Amino acid sequence: MIRRFINKVFGNAARTKAAAGPRILPLAEHGIRREQIHPCALKTTRALKDAGYSAFVVGGAVRDLLLGRDPKDFDVATNALPEQVRQVFRRSRLIGRRFQIVHVYCGADTIEVTTFRAASIEKEVEGEEADDSRVTTADGMLLRDNVFGNQAEDAERRDFTVNALYYDPETEEVWEWHGGVEDARKKVLRIIGDPGQRFREDPVRMLRAARFAAKLDFHIDAATRAPIAELAGMLERIPSARLFDEMMKLLLSGHAERGVRQLRAEGLHHGILPMLDAILDDADRQRFLHAALHDTDERVREGHSASPAFMLASLLWFDMQAEWRSNQAKGQRDQTALYDAMDAVLERQRDLLAFPRRFDGTIKEIWSLQPRFEQRSGARPYRLLSHPRFRAGYDFLLIRAKGGDAPQELADWWTQFPEASDAEREAMLIKPQPGEAKPKRRRSRRKPPANEAAVEVKLG
Ligand code: ATP
Ligand code: MG
Repeated sequence: MIRRFINKVFGNAARTKAAAGPRILPLAEHGIRREQIHPCALKTTRALKDAGYSAFVVGGAVRDLLLGRDPKDFDVATNALPEQVRQVFRRSRLIGRRFQIVHVYCGADTIEVTTFRAASIEKEVEGEEADDSRVTTADGMLLRDNVFGNQAEDAERRDFTVNALYYDPETEEVWEWHGGVEDARKKVLRIIGDPGQRFREDPVRMLRAARFAAKLDFHIDAATRAPIAELAGMLERIPSARLFDEMMKLLLSGHAERGVRQLRAEGLHHGILPMLDAILDDADRQRFLHAALHDTDERVREGHSASPAFMLASLLWFDMQAEWRSNQAKGQRDQTALYDAMDAVLERQRDLLAFPRRFDGTIKEIWSLQPRFEQRSGARPYRLLSHPRFRAGYDFLLIRAKGGDAPQELADWWTQFPEASDAEREAMLIKPQPGEAKPKRRRSRRKPPANEAAVEVKLG
């Protein structure tokens, strides 16, 4: 009863706002020119308009352009239904179930086209929702969201005011419904609607708040921030694959160091990435993590790509080492102990996080190269140099050195060795230490059969 009353009040407030219509800003007030829009997004909005629909560039692209940043991608919103969008574009595909969108292909690029969605969840509370196009749990978490609506409703269901901006490339106008342009100027991240309700509908929005605050260098508005600590626990119920994707977005955004600090500040770091919990509670691990995040951020900001595999290798490195040592203590031989540890740690994390198997190969290579960097005598350094993953392994070694997990001298040696002349390299080699294991082949007293000897010669 009370809930219904509250919904009525909020619902009416929202309707009044929508009834007032959008504030439409001309070019002079926002400065976003048509030429700044990706040609594929322009083609998409134009084709939809020619077919009689309305179409706008929305979300992050408008926000980033407004802030003078390079957008990561361009999304389009329209009043055409997904099936109608498909009819306009020969090269397009309907994807998603929880949230249906159409991918429009244009050369090698893809534009995501979403149909305007309705925002209010009060409908279900009042029992008007009979079909399965929108499904929520008893406490208001949205499981599926395919109720289509008009632009006003679409703006209302978006997460933050700065993400609810619509750009019309034909007229070069920005349409705003919730004061996003002003908030962008003030560098405020403000959720649209009632913060508690919006975070309950989709707890991932809390992670998005931390990610955007870090990426945009915004501060989270006090009312938006208030319910987060209390609701953080709801993240445990998010499917692990979605959490993984969202965390990777944060960690590979180029603002991971600030992002992780923001997660901590909001009390959001527990239970999202179990390995992050462990790292942030331990001083040594923290130092290493910050070296890894700092390095990844620099790399992304310099326009290089950062790989999820490298990030995962960093996040799990301490767990893997602990497991490795424990295997050795149980009497396993070095190599077996290492390979068993890598498998065990990756399997354990997969249960918790559902991260894709396709990263395993690279993660294991980065890890298994680490002990090989310690071997600096004979032919071994030369062999390591020609390993296809040498670069990734070396980058990882540098981070270990910065994070206090490997001697800086070792990292410097490996910085110099590839650059050195043949003679300098010879001089750099370290004499085998007494007791250092020599390659097996040489230890063998058995005289090799003729064909095996031939193979050895061939391999050089
Ligand atoms: P990025 O630069 O990281 O891509 P973005 O704002 O474009 O940022 P996307 O995840 O690409 O973020 O989403 C596109 C838009 O869809 C957002 O700007 C927002 O309006 C809306 N959106 C995405 N996820 C949610 C969500 N969980 N709840 C409400 N709105 C969302
Ligand atoms: Mg985006």
